[in-house]
This record gives sequence, structure tokens and C-alpha cells, in this order.
Amino acid sequence: MITVTWRDLVGSEYEPDMVQPVDLTHLRVPMICTICLSMQNLMIRGLALGAEKPNQPPQFVGKGAVTAHNVGAAIDIFYDAGNSSKRAFANALVELFIRHRGSLGWGWMAYNSIAFTPTSMGAPDDPHISHIHIDWVNHALTRRSSALASFQYIDGMGLQTKNVGAQGQDVAMTTNAASDRAVPNDVVEAYEALCKGWSAEAATRYQNYQRKDFDDAYAGVASGTDLDWLLGWWTVWDGNYYYYYFDHAGRVVYIETRPPNRLAPASPHNRGTYAFAPSGQLVVNWNALPGLAATVETFYNARPGATQMNANSNQYSPLVATRLA
Ligand SMILES: [Zn+2]
Repeated sequence: MITVTWRDLVGSEYEPDMVQPVDLTHLRVPMICTICLSMQNLMIRGLALGAEKPNQPPQFVGKGAVTAHNVGAAIDIFYDAGNSSKRAFANALVELFIRHRGSLGWGWMAYNSIAFTPTSMGAPDDPHISHIHIDWVNHALTRRSSALASFQYIDGMGLQTKNVGAQGQDVAMTTNAASDRAVPNDVVEAYEALCKGWSAEAATRYQNYQRKDFDDAYAGVASGTDLDWLLGWWTVWDGNYYYYYFDHAGRVVYIETRPPNRLAPASPHNRGTYAFAPSGQLVVNWNALPGLAATVETFYNARPGATQMNANSNQYSPLVATRLA
């Protein structure tokens, strides 16, 4: 994880009336996150396997303001939505990114007038007609100021004007935990399969995709490679019983009595987050509670289809988790 602030990029503190410098060649070039570089390599490999050719190479770094791109934690993947074959492949790609959002760990995505979060869809501030934007920003840690309504900046395509409106301008941004790892194996496999199997039939099906067509990907329907196997309840034993609930958005909670139904608990005992390490291990980070240190549990044999998995804890005894039907 890295944090990039306005000062890092512009060289002075953010001021409401500052004129955004346009010649930004003096600025520090940000680090590009491991996941972005890994994603670029994957996209290049895909071309040889049958992927639709993009309109231009993926783009990483814009300049001139604190954006996901300047933090080095975003990629623009150029498939023009006005072209039916390019749009079809981009839709398939977006669907794949949604299905694998748990392991890929992206924070925000936009394409063809739809904004995507790990849990839902909405309207983007910019329609993103020419490209898929995908980033690994921790949006909860992004700091904004509403003092600047618009600014100019240079990206790879020239001088741009950005209106930030009521949302405000980002003045500090932090990448998320997934930004530091390579693209996980389940995504590599799914992407390569998509490229190898890309056909006229697939293009016809995906070119007319609408917002509702992405619902299945969110719900985990019709996929053997998404997180369906993990989401919901598990019984966990370490000498005492606990009941863990994993949700779509990388969050986990627990309670100490058997859940009465399949729904997420209203008042969990504690909350945490989960993510997959490059090795495939499922890493759960529990918040610290009064009198209780933050706890990390590593489920070393977590894998798609698992109904039992084992973990080591940095604080307590080893755990065994069993899928609660
Ligand atoms: Zn972008």
C-alpha cells in the first residue's frame, strides 16, 4: 500500500485557489502498482491467445492531480464502446473482473456509462466510452477537498479539463491491499480461457450487454470460478465455536451463536476483511477490540469448492472452518 498526496505530486500544499500547473514534467513519477504491471503483462499475453485487439495500449499514468492513475493504481484498457466487437470484448472483460473481484481486489471500475464497485453498479461521473477504467484505490482512505471545482491536467492523450463538482478534488489517495500483488491465478486462468475461446458467437452475445446482464456476475450465478464457494456462513472451531460470514465486498464478520438464517448478522461480535494472497491463501484480518489485539488468520488450504479449510492465527490456536450449508 502507498499513499500519494497533493504535495507529493505538485510539490506544495493544496490551496483552494491554486492554479493547477500544466507543465508537470518536474513532478515525481509515481510508482506503478504490482497489480497494474502484472495486469499489463496479462493483457499482452492475451493478444497472442485470441483477445480482441484494443484501440491503443493500456495507459497507466496521467499527470497533474491526485488521481488513481497518478498513484499508479489504475489502468485504462482501451476498447471503444462505439465499435461492436471492441465493446463485446470489453463487456466480457468487465464481467470477468466482477466475477473475480474477491481475488482481484479492485476498488472501482467504469465502462460505457456504468460505474462498478465490488458490490453494486451506478452512474460514473465520466461515461468512460473509450475505455475500461479499473483501479486498486482504497476509496475509504481517499481524502477530498471541494474547494477546487475544476482543473486542467495532461494525460497520455493531451491537455484535459476535469470538473470535479460537488464531489471535490482528491488531495490524498492510498492504494488498497491488493495493489501490491500480482494478478492471482484464478484471474489469469479465466482471462486466458476467455481469449482462447473468443468467437463470433461470443462477440454477438456480449456486444448487446446491458447493465442487468452484469447482475449474474455480482450474484455469482453460472460461474464455477467465482467466490460462491466462500460467501456466506462457515462454522469455525479453535476449541470454541464461532460463525463467520464472508460477504461479496471482502468483508468478514463473526458471531458466537449459530446463525438463525442465511442473512448477514445484524450485530456481529467483530468485523474484519479478507483477501487472497498470490499463493492462494485466504488471509483474514480482524479488527482490534478493547483488550484484544488485531488478529490475522491465514487459511492455507482455501480453494474454490472447498467445504473445509484450516488456518493459523498470529494470536490464537489453529482453526478449522467448515462450510455451513
Ligand atoms: Zn482511468
